[in-house]
Amino acid sequence: MRFKSLSDLKRQKPKEVTLATLPQEVSMTHYAKEKAFKISELVLEIHEESYEWYGFTIADKENPELITDIGLPQNDQNLQEYAAIGPARIAEYYDSLSEDTIINGWIHSHGALQYMHFSHTDEANHATVLDFVTARLRKTVAKKEIPIQDLQLLVKDEFEEKELEEGSVSLITDAVVSEAILMETIYGGFSYSIVIGDEGWHEQEIHYQERGMISGHTHVSMKSADLILIDNGRSLTQAEIIVLSKEVAEKIQPNTNPPTEVIERM
Ligand SMILES: [Zn+2]
Repeated sequence: MRFKSLSDLKRQKPKEVTLATLPQEVSMTHYAKEKAFKISELVLEIHEESYEWYGFTIADKENPELITDIGLPQNDQNLQEYAAIGPARIAEYYDSLSEDTIINGWIHSHGALQYMHFSHTDEANHATVLDFVTARLRKTVAKKEIPIQDLQLLVKDEFEEKELEEGSVSLITDAVVSEAILMETIYGGFSYSIVIGDEGWHEQEIHYQERGMISGHTHVSMKSADLILIDNGRSLTQAEIIVLSKEVAEKIQPNTNPPTEVIERM
């Protein structure tokens, strides 16, 4: 049994229902911001020169939109490597985190450079971090109609196999249906990107990825975003600074070659 397909009806804009939103601003605790700038300060102090470094922004699993900490992975001595944060490198750091925390973006410093914006070199890293974060932090952001040309509506046990040769999509129901709309889940995810400089400046972006559950249609976008500081009562203690100093000494190695980003800007 075959009914008039939806494509025969006048097509309208696909239906879309928003179910959740992704962050529009970068939320960060005072502690996390203080720690980021402290790392830059320690780099200068320990290595006696300002070096660029990168880290990950960390959040509690139960509140993934708020950056509560900065994670410092082993920064490569080879600046070619630094320029490209590979998925393996993020995964390695992710595995070292406690169960209740997650990575929700990345942060890096341009050190003493007067280049106060994200550079072209940073773009590949945004994409890599976004892929990684979204794979673990996706949520249902919408239901969106999949426009189907020539939808075939069939009733269970009442059609011949040969009939399946028709229609672009067959919907088999247990009762007679004359009209149907297919709405797929749109999963969405985000990742934060922050760039800072020794002089105290910072710039933020939020990168978004949305993907249709059935269609596989993927949409990537980004926006510049304000930094919203949240006071959760925590501040960097002297003991934490000592631990951080050790981390900076071990994980950030002075580079004798100019960073790729510097070359790019020359
Ligand atoms: Zn950069």
